[in-house]
Amino acid sequence: MDSNENIMPEAKGLNFVEEIVNNDLKDGKNGGRLNTRFPPEPNGYLHIGHAKAICMDFGIAEKFGGTCNLRFDDTNPVKEDVEYVDSIREDIKWLGFDWGDREYYASDYFPQLFELAVRLIKEGKAYVDDQTSEQIASQKGTPTQPGTESPYRSRSVEENLDLFMRMNAGEFEEGSRVLRAKIDMANSNMHFRDPIMYRIIKTPHHRTGTTWKVYPMYDFAHGQSDYFEGVTHSICTLEFVPHRPLYEYFVKELADETYCPRQIEFNRLNLTYTVMSKRKLLQLVKEGLVAGWDDPRMPTISGLRRRGFTPRSIRNFIDAIGYTKYEALNSISLLEHAVRDDLNKISTRGMAVINPVKVVITNYPEGQTEMVEMENNPEDTESGVHQMPFSREIYIERDDFMENPPKKFFRLAPDGEVRLKGAYIVKCTGVKKDADGNIEEIYCTYDPDTRSGLPGASRKVKGTLHWVSAPTAVNATARIYDRLFCVENPAAETERDFREMLNPDSLKVAEGIKVEPYLAEISSPGVPLQFQRIGYFTLDKDSTPGNLIFNRTIALKDSWEKINK
Ligand code: ATP
Ligand code: MG
Repeated sequence: MDSNENIMPEAKGLNFVEEIVNNDLKDGKNGGRLNTRFPPEPNGYLHIGHAKAICMDFGIAEKFGGTCNLRFDDTNPVKEDVEYVDSIREDIKWLGFDWGDREYYASDYFPQLFELAVRLIKEGKAYVDDQTSEQIASQKGTPTQPGTESPYRSRSVEENLDLFMRMNAGEFEEGSRVLRAKIDMANSNMHFRDPIMYRIIKTPHHRTGTTWKVYPMYDFAHGQSDYFEGVTHSICTLEFVPHRPLYEYFVKELADETYCPRQIEFNRLNLTYTVMSKRKLLQLVKEGLVAGWDDPRMPTISGLRRRGFTPRSIRNFIDAIGYTKYEALNSISLLEHAVRDDLNKISTRGMAVINPVKVVITNYPEGQTEMVEMENNPEDTESGVHQMPFSREIYIERDDFMENPPKKFFRLAPDGEVRLKGAYIVKCTGVKKDADGNIEEIYCTYDPDTRSGLPGASRKVKGTLHWVSAPTAVNATARIYDRLFCVENPAAETERDFREMLNPDSLKVAEGIKVEPYLAEISSPGVPLQFQRIGYFTLDKDSTPGNLIFNRTIALKDSWEKINK
């Protein structure tokens, strides 16, 4: 019998990373431990690509009874900030994962990393190079041509030690010297051509202040941090494949046969109609092209949350696309499908009119109000009902009325009948226009026998409209969001500035929308609502009691699908 109950009985249905983990556990590697980590650099907000990594790192630990560390990869004080640390914590929790007390920082390991660097210098495996980064880059060679050795490569151990200590004491300018690993300038793997281990940075660090003047490069920090933390499986994205030999090279300086972390790579999440590079997202924020990292058009977790996406929809989408070893471009329609699917199950239905025109029901008593019953969610039998007022004056959508309708227009038109959802059948008897011919009011009569529960309730008409009673309607604003870019793969259009490809219609603001009182009352950021026939909405954080602002999470149907056909 297997002593380790975390081992999956059969590897069927496991993705390739899970299979590797399953086999390692079966073989008793690392004492049968599983410890992963999610290692964000706190230099921006997390995006949905990170969510894919989070679902892998935390998900696999959950599945096999291991642990997952949150490690802030804070090795570059120039770009990093506590604002980002806080947002990263919040976003991971919102997605439904918990790192408990396993919160670590690469900066916690600066002393050990420095010590290792000193040891490598002493063993003749590292040297201080006085050249500029441009000079070093020019000596790198190409994949088919060997690089050139630095003139400083054969410095004595004593001189290297002295210079490295003085680099860290702040004696030298930024960019004037670096510490390099002495490996092989002719290696076919370019990352082995004497990679930089440390550079001088004088900007204070958000955690360690001015203690350090030298900071480790990613390749010198990551594997060792994994080792110091006891990470067994360091799962990352495919661009790190060529870094893996270097990861192993440095880890070997620490590890032995009883414990050695290993790196495994999977394909990145790339989404159509958006960009995923933190640099570009930062640029959109800095240049005011969006309203911040959590702008609901951004692919950031905080943006998607503000927009009304749910953690479950994001996780379901990530499950659906899966993990492979090949780069791909994932369709945003698939994400939107997952969002609609989840919101359909959980959102409270109600009525809101986005572009209102008033309807006066001339045979309904003035001053009278009656309540009609509305189902909260037909997909959820336990969600109950709520009451909605009906009165002589109501609002309907302006484009649900046509004075001269084409054939097959089943909404309201002169002499035509429609059902007001949940209430009566009404018939249009006339309109009032302003001096320019715009319709100001529509006049109708209602058939009092057609309300639910009355004999005429089953009378059939072709169209059913949503509506809101005028005297009690809550005025609000709707922000109608659409895709951020108008080209499918902005990152592929390398000839064009990505900002030129922004969708000019990605945000439309509709003021003076009319919302039924119940919806306004239950609304709060993150509470999912369905404005019937319009789409899914949630309250925005910019809302105030006097000015409710609703974000459209997504339309009921995918309108882009039609356009692309
Ligand atoms: P940068 O663009 O600054 O290199 P990054 O997007 O790689 O940043 P990190 O903070 O270094 O951001 O990423 C943390 C983790 O998230 C890494 O393990 C990385 O592989 C993973 N990750 C980042 N982007 C994606 C993506 N699009 N799909 C899947 N995983 C991703
Ligand atoms: Mg990165």
